[in-house]
Amino acid sequence: MLQSQLFTKTRKEAPKDEITKNAQLLIRGGFVHKEMAGSYSYLPLGRRVLENIERIVRDEMDRIGGQEIRMATLQPSEPWKQTGAWEKVDVIFKINSRTDKEYTIGQSAEEIITPIVQEYVRSYKDLPVAVYQIGQKYRDELRAKSGIMRGREFTMKDMYSFHETQEDFDRFYALAKEAYLRVYKRMGLVAKVTEASGGSFTEKLSYEFMVLTSAGEDVILYCDSCSYCVNADISKQKEGEACTRCTGGNLARATASEVGNIFDLGIKYPKDFGYTYKNKDGEDAYPIMGCFGIGITRLMGVIAEALSDEHGLVWPETVAPYRVHLLSLTPDDLEASSAANLLYDALLDLGVDVLYDDRKGPSAGEKFKDSDLIGIPLCVVVSKKTLVEGKFEVKVRSSGETKILDRDELLSLF
Ligand code: ATP
Ligand code: MG
Repeated sequence: MLQSQLFTKTRKEAPKDEITKNAQLLIRGGFVHKEMAGSYSYLPLGRRVLENIERIVRDEMDRIGGQEIRMATLQPSEPWKQTGAWEKVDVIFKINSRTDKEYTIGQSAEEIITPIVQEYVRSYKDLPVAVYQIGQKYRDELRAKSGIMRGREFTMKDMYSFHETQEDFDRFYALAKEAYLRVYKRMGLVAKVTEASGGSFTEKLSYEFMVLTSAGEDVILYCDSCSYCVNADISKQKEGEACTRCTGGNLARATASEVGNIFDLGIKYPKDFGYTYKNKDGEDAYPIMGCFGIGITRLMGVIAEALSDEHGLVWPETVAPYRVHLLSLTPDDLEASSAANLLYDALLDLGVDVLYDDRKGPSAGEKFKDSDLIGIPLCVVVSKKTLVEGKFEVKVRSSGETKILDRDELLSLF
């Protein structure tokens, strides 16, 4: 992509009403545009990051047998009334049609998926099944001050699974937990897993996946020695107390952001919809159901918070909008600009995603500043000066490490 063609521009100041680092950096870098509190549009750079996050999530969900679908976002109110959610769930948007009908726009999808699966999955031979989607969710959140980490519109991956037995549910639950941990790791994040009560949904246990960041809205207690972790909201334990799971560990307290959670829903929804299947003995039985969420846009915000520095964003290679930021520092110099053009083509030939700063106006200093703000993992500099020796300067964004490489050495990195 030629940066001279990119319609977005970086900006020096973030809007005053944005108090979180993720929103400030993402707006300054031209990744997102704010429509109102809790509602953002994703611009070319931001959309590429989201797509990379989605790809990793999709990959790991497919790997544990998830089947991707896309459910309707505009939904009838009836199934939500049938389960009691219409009255009980306070974040549901309720839409009045001019025809007197009531609709909602999806805030979750248990009420939609259960009747869908009910139609096809009728026998024990059809179970287990896990279905997921990646798409927009809408919630009437009261406080939306965390930038893209808490949206009134946001992107979520929601998966729903159905099982014959509790044992089979537990097996899948463990698989999903491992898949979730791989998802976060692939994005350069370390997630701690809390064991928490499922709140209003169910009496059963759930896991929450938490990434430590000062911008998070949760407080957790975690052991400094083993993997024990609980949400401070529900726990009687206190910071500094001895860990109840291991010997020698103590509980530390930290703010964190919930980047995913998985629930055992039991048979609530199958019961609400009268969904039974024929079990091995030919009897009608309710399937056991689970739901598994990942906050896609929240993850992008958490990465922006957790992995940035004082100069700007620092994307891990797996989610970065481009792999290489090619800076042509002296584009008015014919030799240097044609060397940069040739390098750009050679990288594209190798299948490398490149943002090529070919702009003629900005100074070298401005280009470096923009590059640090945008946070592409590898910055390759071409200038009259470096070309005297036929070399290119390569800077790793995360470490600041620089190397001078010739063309072959540079291309062999990919
Ligand atoms: P929270 O406690 O943060 O409100 P939740 O328990 O309501 O989250 P779920 O309904 O289970 O969350 O949604 C699954 C995932 O979607 C969450 O773990 C989180 O990562 C993400 N998520 C939930 N609400 C929002 C939101 N308003 N904006 C962005 N992401 C969200
Ligand atoms: Mg919530």
